[in-house]
Amino acid sequence: MTEQHEPITVYSGAIRCVERDCAEYLTADGYDNEAVENCSHLTPRQVCKECSPYDDDAGFIITAVAWPCPTAVDLGIAPRDGEAA
Ligand SMILES: [Zn+2]
Ligand SMILES: [Zn+2]
Repeated sequence: MTEQHEPITVYSGAIRCVERDCAEYLTADGYDNEAVENCSHLTPRQVCKECSPYDDDAGFIITAVAWPCPTAVDLGIAPRDGEAA
């Protein structure tokens, strides 16, 4: 199996925000507001898809490895710190 070290964007924050259970996901009428993809409490971060396995039981990534991960840098997929992409 080929390892795919590539960046994905995940949103970290309070569980209730990740699970769309905070007030920002609601319209003024109290319904689910589908226009809101992620509430403002969540912080987008880039992690390595390969190094940050999604845990099906938990429903989210437990161990997030920031992109670029050391392996991607070693393989030349990602630039080292300080180099232009
Ligand atoms: Zn929120
Ligand atoms: Zn990786």
